[in-house]
Amino acid sequence: MESERGRWPEVPFRPEGLEELRRKADIAAVVRQTVALRRQGQRLVGLCPFHSEKTPSFSVSPERGLFYCFGCHAGGDVIDFVMKRDGLTFPDAVALLAEEFAVEVGEEEATPEAAQRQERRGALLKVLEAAQGRLRAHLMGPEGAAARRYLAGRGLGREDVERFDLGYAVGGDDLCRSLGAPADVLLEAGLAARGEGGRLYDRFRERATFAIRDRGGHIVGFGGRILGDGQPKYLNSQETPLFHKGSLLYAWPWAARAMRDQGEATVVEGYMDAIALHRGGFPATIATLGTALTDDHARQIGRAVRLAHLAFDGDAAGQAAVVRSAPPLLAQGVEVRVAAPRGAKDPDEILRGPGGADAWRAILAGAVPITEWLLNRALASPGAASPEGKATAAREVFLAIRAMPSPLVRDEELRHLAQRLEVREDVLREEYRRTSPDGERVHMLQSPRNSTRSTVETPKIPEWLPIEQQLLALAAQFPARAAEIRARCRPLRDAALDAALECAARGEDLSTSADENLRRAWAEASLAYDLPEAEVAKTVARWLQAGKRLQLNEVKRRIAELAAAGEAVDPALLVEVHTLGREIEAMSKGGERP
Ligand SMILES: [Zn+2]
Repeated sequence: MESERGRWPEVPFRPEGLEELRRKADIAAVVRQTVALRRQGQRLVGLCPFHSEKTPSFSVSPERGLFYCFGCHAGGDVIDFVMKRDGLTFPDAVALLAEEFAVEVGEEEATPEAAQRQERRGALLKVLEAAQGRLRAHLMGPEGAAARRYLAGRGLGREDVERFDLGYAVGGDDLCRSLGAPADVLLEAGLAARGEGGRLYDRFRERATFAIRDRGGHIVGFGGRILGDGQPKYLNSQETPLFHKGSLLYAWPWAARAMRDQGEATVVEGYMDAIALHRGGFPATIATLGTALTDDHARQIGRAVRLAHLAFDGDAAGQAAVVRSAPPLLAQGVEVRVAAPRGAKDPDEILRGPGGADAWRAILAGAVPITEWLLNRALASPGAASPEGKATAAREVFLAIRAMPSPLVRDEELRHLAQRLEVREDVLREEYRRTSPDGERVHMLQSPRNSTRSTVETPKIPEWLPIEQQLLALAAQFPARAAEIRARCRPLRDAALDAALECAARGEDLSTSADENLRRAWAEASLAYDLPEAEVAKTVARWLQAGKRLQLNEVKRRIAELAAAGEAVDPALLVEVHTLGREIEAMSKGGERP
């Protein structure tokens, strides 16, 4: 779950060096390398490079060193921009900018622990690299004949061995013995396991092997495919300090450039499919290692591309992986389409079939937007035409819609869904609101206690979010007033904004916060609003008044519920309605105090 930024303590840069880089690396100049900007008041606006749009919703504040897109919600500082634009890690983006703007970021002084960790990492990488040499030699030697036949059957020849890091594990304790590394290193590298009596033996035995590299191109683990009928068919390295299935994507180093150039990626389920597509002329292909996409995967992909094709197996497990993989990608502002080969064939079979690369191109071209795919899938099940069936289908699609960061896109999707299901749009929207979990903003606009059904109109206070963003923007712009704003408005309805306001009140600089949510909330608020200081009092008053109105609605709702149930209404509730009404009226007349 941690972001690249969450790993700051391990990043070997001096904090002062980073500070200087942020000052000197002119965000406007960097953005202009790819986006045409024009001035609009204090900021520069242009077409967002991270999602497709016709009217500019991407804005840059050179003064604050921030960018933010009101369409796809990408935002942050100059380093974030380069990470996202080029699909780079934090250290790589820093290095690139440091060179461009001639800033000496410097390496952080190594603590003994850090030095030890680095040394350990180096030892593990070295033994993994040596292991690949040994596995490759076995594949090419007499003992690798069966493995070569298996690979040839999948269309892989001698020339692919080097390019795709193929190998063959003979088994026994061949690797353990031949590498001559200490037992603890072999174990920690995931190459060995301990058998009975404490003897070491190789983890990979009699398998064709595929080296798995991290984004920096280092071998961090292996996958092994059994040659015969044994189980498991595929085996990966276990989790090690270097090998995390939840953050590794197979083939990333081969795909990075193509993904950046095309702005698209295809995600498949295994190494064979990834290799087949790379060989077939589809270099923007990466693969998961037997898991659905995690938030961490999605963040990496979201920094590199705008569109992802999910090309998982057509079986139930593959479909389930699509359902689980789409929301994290959508949450990163990545457009998701599902490329579903007919007849449950995998990409490897299709490329080796009669249609070859053209057949795969056609499948990519025919990929269906995720919402459409979810809907088609739900509608194909029995009873889909009944009201219950439609409700079920709607909820399936809500899973994707809810993950989309743009309110505008969500709105469009809901409208389209109502048409497709042939239900009234307002009814569908009610269903959407009712089934949204607390994390959904639309839900936060309502009272936290308002979880039961209500006959009274739900509180119509659409100004909540803007007000709260304005409060944060004001706190950021007028730091001397931040504590006062915090003291009077607490807690904000929006949890992310509330956390940000709390930090602003403590005088923290949110633009360099290690917390991605804080940086994003702050970037959004401060680029959305440029307000004079006189607005502080007015905005606080509006927030307080909105709170009263929410309270009033809640009381009215309780009264209506009691009445509907035929129960007596507590007169205290009626008095409360009256009092709240008077207070709100007084506030409207310009009185700022509650
Ligand atoms: Zn955007």
